[in-house]
Amino acid sequence: MPTQPTLAIPPSLLPSDGRFGSGPSKVRPAQVAALAAAGDPAAPVLGTSHRQPPVKDLVRRVRQGLATLFDLPDGYEIALGNGGSTAFWEVATACLVERRAQHAVFGEFGGKFAAATGRAPFLEPSQVRDAAPGSVALLATADGVDTYATVHNETSTGAMAPAAQVPDARADGALLLVDATSGAGALPVDVGATDVYYFGPQKVFASDGGLWLAICSPAAVERAARVEGAADRTGRWVPEFLSLTTALANSRADQTLNTPAVGTLVLLAEQVEWMLEQGGLAWSTARCAESAGALYGWAEARDWATPFVTEPSARSTVVGTVDLDPAIDAAAVVATLRAHGVLDVFPYRKLGRNQLRVGLFPAVEPDDVRALTACVDHVVAHL
Ligand SMILES: *Cc1c(COP(=O)(O)O)cnc(C)c1O
Repeated sequence: MPTQPTLAIPPSLLPSDGRFGSGPSKVRPAQVAALAAAGDPAAPVLGTSHRQPPVKDLVRRVRQGLATLFDLPDGYEIALGNGGSTAFWEVATACLVERRAQHAVFGEFGGKFAAATGRAPFLEPSQVRDAAPGSVALLATADGVDTYATVHNETSTGAMAPAAQVPDARADGALLLVDATSGAGALPVDVGATDVYYFGPQKVFASDGGLWLAICSPAAVERAARVEGAADRTGRWVPEFLSLTTALANSRADQTLNTPAVGTLVLLAEQVEWMLEQGGLAWSTARCAESAGALYGWAEARDWATPFVTEPSARSTVVGTVDLDPAIDAAAVVATLRAHGVLDVFPYRKLGRNQLRVGLFPAVEPDDVRALTACVDHVVAHL
């Protein structure tokens, strides 16, 4: 039965912006103003060809901004294409896994990529190293594995894992792919310790969904060329839409294979440049850690709230999950917050816990996270 909110949260307790979703996440008003400006007929970007300078310039801003934000190592390249991280799993399955993949699975998203390689008829059965939701599974070097895959931040559970793993396997020529869809840009990383660090625009980067972006090492570029047989067309058949080699060729020309959502690129470019102006990755990681400290510290000080992730070092600083005592109906708390414009703090649907999940991305003000906790205190006291 839907829960009917009955109590009122005093306006003085409410956050300045009530968007706490884990993706799509809060978009800053300045980004929306830039979007409006991009539609100005005096200097239009929206509604113009994606093969001409105004839109190619947007792609260039995104690629250059990300190169600066991630301190791109020599030889690494930024590719992008349509379809989001979900499409990138199929790109990686088709173009990067040569014979066998190993996956660390500790939530829904890691599991979906493992399922993708597991279904591919041209690959050997994937190895899965799994761990219960709320904890973290680590990769381990194994014979016969040429591609390792992990998740930087498991958005479904609020657990984060180190991006840099299996250095010995990489030294032997294996690739390390890191799903950083909700972590890239707000978790510390040395992308040089990974081969593909991929993400989307709708989480840390406060844009809309629909694109994938992948920071690729020279080894990953070379692997795709070999698997796809790009030079002599002798390789595996790969649909052109899934070809990483084709995506790289387009990205180098500041384009995508097919038409991108131009508005998404505008919001993304604005957010990347804003993050650089604020102080780059050091700034964003510190800001998100402050928000996370406020959320977890609040939960630990309540006897009816507990951080879901037991191991403190694995508690995500970008997506915080807090279990509530079974005597408190978390769905009622979420509904009451929603009725007051405090949005999207429900848990991941398949996790099925009595939980609040809070997006703590760089666009979110740490003071608004503190205000959210005050709102929850009020709701719980008056339910
Ligand atoms: C959101 C998310 C995805 C899926 O992204 P889409 O752009 O919707 O395909 C994949 N992995 C992680 C870790 C995510 O948070």
